[in-house]
Amino acid sequence: MFDIAKLAKRLRSQKGFTLVELMVVVVIIGILVAIAIPIYNNVTANAREKACAANIRALTGAAGMYLAEQGNYPGDIDDLAPNYIDEVPDCPVDENAGYSIDENGVVTCSHTSGGGGETQ
Ligand SMILES: [Zn+2]
Repeated sequence: MFDIAKLAKRLRSQKGFTLVELMVVVVIIGILVAIAIPIYNNVTANAREKACAANIRALTGAAGMYLAEQGNYPGDIDDLAPNYIDEVPDCPVDENAGYSIDENGVVTCSHTSGGGGETQ
């Protein structure tokens, strides 16, 4: 019914991949990885920039509420927490960067060299 010797003989006789075939597969995988890694890094960097811009918009909105209640913009971005925003977020691009606000309510992030803040 079930001949183990016959099965072992059949398994031994099967041919595997040649070295050239394996090398072709490895090269193809390498090319795909070489294409995918820069795309992935670009996507994550772009997402961090967008998240920073969203933080600036949220802080600008909080500064608008501060202006409506207090009659002037806050002197320091940390004055917005906790009454106008739960907490001042950290910049997702650069953990050493921080947000600041000027006397006109323009919020900027220090990770951008050219300001990067939005005008109202
Ligand atoms: Zn930033």
